[in-house]
Amino acid sequence: MPSTRLANLIDGRLQPPLDDRWLDVYEPATGAVFAQSPDSSAADVDAAAKAAQKAAPGWAATPAETRARLLHRLADLIEARLDEFAALESRDSGKPVSLAKRLDIPRAVSNLRFFAAAIVGWESEAHAMETGAINYTLRHPLGVVGCISPWNLPLYLFTWKIAPALASGNVVIAKPSEITPCTAALLGELSIEAGFPPGVLNIVHGRGPTTGQAIVEHPAVKAISFTGSTRTGASIAATAAPQFKKLSLELGGKNPAIVFADAELSEENLNTIVRSGFANQGEICLCGSRLLVQRSIYDSFRERYLAKVKALRVGDPQAASSDLGALVSREHFDKVMRCIMQAREEGGRILCGGDALQLDGRCADGWFVAPTVIEGLANDTHTNQQEIFGPVVTLIPFDDEAQALAIANGTGYGLAASLWTGDLSRAHRMGAQLEFGIVWINCWLLRDLRTPFGGSKQSGVGREGGAEALRFFTEPRNICIRY
Ligand code: NAD
Repeated sequence: MPSTRLANLIDGRLQPPLDDRWLDVYEPATGAVFAQSPDSSAADVDAAAKAAQKAAPGWAATPAETRARLLHRLADLIEARLDEFAALESRDSGKPVSLAKRLDIPRAVSNLRFFAAAIVGWESEAHAMETGAINYTLRHPLGVVGCISPWNLPLYLFTWKIAPALASGNVVIAKPSEITPCTAALLGELSIEAGFPPGVLNIVHGRGPTTGQAIVEHPAVKAISFTGSTRTGASIAATAAPQFKKLSLELGGKNPAIVFADAELSEENLNTIVRSGFANQGEICLCGSRLLVQRSIYDSFRERYLAKVKALRVGDPQAASSDLGALVSREHFDKVMRCIMQAREEGGRILCGGDALQLDGRCADGWFVAPTVIEGLANDTHTNQQEIFGPVVTLIPFDDEAQALAIANGTGYGLAASLWTGDLSRAHRMGAQLEFGIVWINCWLLRDLRTPFGGSKQSGVGREGGAEALRFFTEPRNICIRY
């Protein structure tokens, strides 16, 4: 029996699930269970919804400055325990603790602070009419909203949703992934210490098809902000649409990274290109898993790129020396290994990696996969069309801009693209034509939290970030006055 049992946060109190049912939480680096989280039922979600409904009017009437102060306090409490959060995130997800410390937890803190500041500075629109009238827009919180997040950036994406929802005056029922629930549970405890009124933030742990579905179905829940797979997004949309719930869906991707011969391929840029494929074991929705390289530099680029990928150290996530840790679950490990097998069957040449890794010592039973680079596959193969979401990158040569565009856009997804070129005109031209919600030029994962974030096609509906998120979580009302 693992020593740690997480609790739901409902009505300001930490509570076990009503049915006393529990889910095992695994440490991916060892394959061992280290905690249990509530396997909550629809009754738990209903209790959270009732608490939230009770808290809604008070929270909506709370001045923005007060809401912001509570979010800042929560951010401070998390920051004060940065090491503990980073260690927990790493243990729960398999990512290197160094990455959690550098990226995940600081970004979670920034999310809370960013939206705390944003709500205080938020302006509403006014439209004057020459005919003697003025319109202004009021924005009301929606009431109870659902926030459902995935396992790859657990606290980072959890806070990316709850921060704008709470800042704009909504009450929240949030569900982190059942695969990585630990840091959200700790955040829940700290939210009590921060002083959030009971029922304003409720965290209900559990499985997607049961707990998650109950949140989406609940009539009190007016909007769902979801990040996860395209398949789950489709199922959520089917449930929510007949109830006319507002939906924000951030889904999967099959992102291209495009390298032109005129790109400045400094060590720093090459390191970023490598990182864009393999950071967090490739388990970032924004990772470039199709690496398009102009044919005139293909051979020389491949040599330099492979040398860097082979030098990546896969190891115990607790070790400072590890660049990559373990994949998040046995199931996901099996999926990634199946994808690699399929790439071989499709005729792909494995240039490096291609195998699971057996580590020594405490990580002997962990779910590790060697960074894998594959070439020789057409863009319409399964390997180049399906989201693998692991440390697997394919190399695809192209001749010119038109072909690069056709290959890059030749996917059902439209989340993010990165482009490496020294030609400014090309950068603008391609930026306008790449069918992705986010285009990075000569950089990757450079994030300004004010910008619209999200994807097109099967990568999602709606945008998060900055004012987009605040608009999503509020209902506009136009007031027109004639004078
Ligand atoms: P997932 O869809 O399996 O699960 C995501 C969340 O949804 C989990 O909390 C899960 O419990 C819940 N869920 C599952 N079924 C549900 C249902 N029927 N109703 C309500 N909730 C349900 O995704 P995952 O495997 O946790 O995450 C990986 C996926 O997330 C990848 O496809 C990745 O690209 C995507 N992702 C997208 C972004 C983005 O910003 N676009 C960011 C990170 C991850």
